[in-house]
Amino acid sequence: MSKILIVEDEVKIARFVTLELQHEGYEVAVAHDGRTGLQMCESWQPDLLILDLMLPELSGIEVCRRLRQTSDIPIIMLTAKDDVSDKVMGLDMGADDYMTKPFAIEELLARIRVSLKKHRLDRAKETGARTVGKLHIEPASYSANYDGQSITLTKKEFDLLNYLWQHEGTAVTRDDLLSNVWGYEFAGDTNIVDVYIRYLRQKIDDKFTIKTIHTIRAVGYMFKYE
Ligand code: CA
Repeated sequence: MSKILIVEDEVKIARFVTLELQHEGYEVAVAHDGRTGLQMCESWQPDLLILDLMLPELSGIEVCRRLRQTSDIPIIMLTAKDDVSDKVMGLDMGADDYMTKPFAIEELLARIRVSLKKHRLDRAKETGARTVGKLHIEPASYSANYDGQSITLTKKEFDLLNYLWQHEGTAVTRDDLLSNVWGYEFAGDTNIVDVYIRYLRQKIDDKFTIKTIHTIRAVGYMFKYE
């Protein structure tokens, strides 16, 4: 579940957006001034920030500028007026998107979904992290989980899953797997591949009643989420 921080001094708007976001299943926190908002970004580590431009203590522009020195969190700015120069300045300071008040909540929700998705894809490009359905892996930390439940994999199991997943939808031969996951010392001994495929299926497919690892007759295996 994504965490969204709303930094908005107009209590009624903050309350309304909070309720709508909670209804959509997001975890929400609110700050009513820029300084508190900036502090909460550090302490609460939200996945997305909805940032009003006109704020007490620190302006939205200033919050944005400071935040961008250390964080690439998606920021959607709220502007009270349809002022082009404010928007341009916000976008220059690193905001990803903006909305002019009053706005339709459906549009804000749509933009939140787009921003979160884009951020996930950008991050995946950097770290090799991948998600399909509820299955997620992060090569940087060798971690995998299904719907938030962590899956304990040995390094070899992880490497095997990762390699198959990199070739999603393509049949990979046992020899390919041996040389790329195990290295050459195991050349020829393809039984070990079948053994590890079995481990993966027990830990993922069987456990969560999904199908990810398919046997391709006379070839090898293929990762495809079903
Ligand atoms: Ca305001």
